[in-house]
Amino acid sequence: MKKVLTKNINHLLLILKPDRFYKPDWNKYTSRTRQQYACIIAIVLGLMLGCANKDTISQALYIKGDLVLDYQPKSNLVQKQSILSKPKYPVIDVHTHFSGDVTPAFLIEKMDALGIKAIVNLSGGYGVKLDQMLEKFSHYGPDRLIIFCNLDLSKIDDSDFSEQMEAFLSAAHAKGARGLKIFKNLGLTVKDKTGQIVAIDDVRFDPVWEKAGELGMPVLIHTADPVAFFKPTDRFNERLMQLKRHPNWSFYGAAFPERETIIAQRNRVIARHPNTIFIGAHVGNSAEDLTMISKLLDSYPNFYVDVAGRVAELGRQPYTARKFLIKYQDRVLFGTDRYPGKPAQPRYTIYYRFFQTQDEYFDYYDHPFPPAGEWKIYGVFLPDEVLEKIYCKNAQRVLGLR
Ligand SMILES: [Zn+2]
Repeated sequence: MKKVLTKNINHLLLILKPDRFYKPDWNKYTSRTRQQYACIIAIVLGLMLGCANKDTISQALYIKGDLVLDYQPKSNLVQKQSILSKPKYPVIDVHTHFSGDVTPAFLIEKMDALGIKAIVNLSGGYGVKLDQMLEKFSHYGPDRLIIFCNLDLSKIDDSDFSEQMEAFLSAAHAKGARGLKIFKNLGLTVKDKTGQIVAIDDVRFDPVWEKAGELGMPVLIHTADPVAFFKPTDRFNERLMQLKRHPNWSFYGAAFPERETIIAQRNRVIARHPNTIFIGAHVGNSAEDLTMISKLLDSYPNFYVDVAGRVAELGRQPYTARKFLIKYQDRVLFGTDRYPGKPAQPRYTIYYRFFQTQDEYFDYYDHPFPPAGEWKIYGVFLPDEVLEKIYCKNAQRVLGLR
């Protein structure tokens, strides 16, 4: 009796906890009294547990009628654990975001501690914000704190949108902005007055891409997102726990264009503007399919990728990733999507470990929960010359740095 009751309580506890993805086997609740009894206990316990344990997100397993909550197996492998506090070569992080609240002195101090030569803030903005960013950071360390500008897409319906953006780009460049960042909202959510989502290869942007090329400003473009964000948020989704934490990161359904559609729009832009350098953020957002991204790199010499936020993807396919990084050693740029000294979810030392070591089966994160999915990564021990290019030399060339 006790065993049956415990099992019923466990079932119902899971139903009551919103984070659990679990479907009960209702056939087990045959007797009405048992259902009511179990429900009352479950509600009381569920409330207690729910309050005490509100933000817990972890694996629950159901094995032969037993529930294992918060399953976190500890590896028993006996192996070398490399701790790399500094990179083998100076690093340029081409993919950071920081606001005007941090001070340049703080950034420089953290950069020096982590062996970072330069960082690119992709959130430079436009207008007054951009002016302030350039004033505060670029003037402080012109070759160390680099600012990319962004387009004001709220002007998309202006009849002279293209001319306005061209003029903006020229002015931003003259003031010290070194490149242009396009956020993922283009192609995904931005609409014009027709009510339609604006395509990335909309002709209104053509003069802007062309101008960027003329000015020698690389365009770092974030298009789409991981494959899992375009799939149903169900128990088959490999990033389910991440999507449970951030439901607004799901772009599944009729309200959004297909992932392949927007990636194809981006690719047409890259093809149409061979004199402009495009850097596909997050391994071109196709780190799950390195064969596909290889074909793009083969087709378009003006296409580069950064690795920001995708060491989790690269590190779980180390054989393929190593070959990819060596083959495209001139086209891959180091990036994190963090900034030096950012307290939340630090990445630098994990990235160094991934690129430099032969460590196996380690966490790609340094906080309590896996940010993407439940897997481990393996180091790709890149040869020195490849490492130096990906860490620094490619970015130096693309950004025109000394
Ligand atoms: Zn980013």
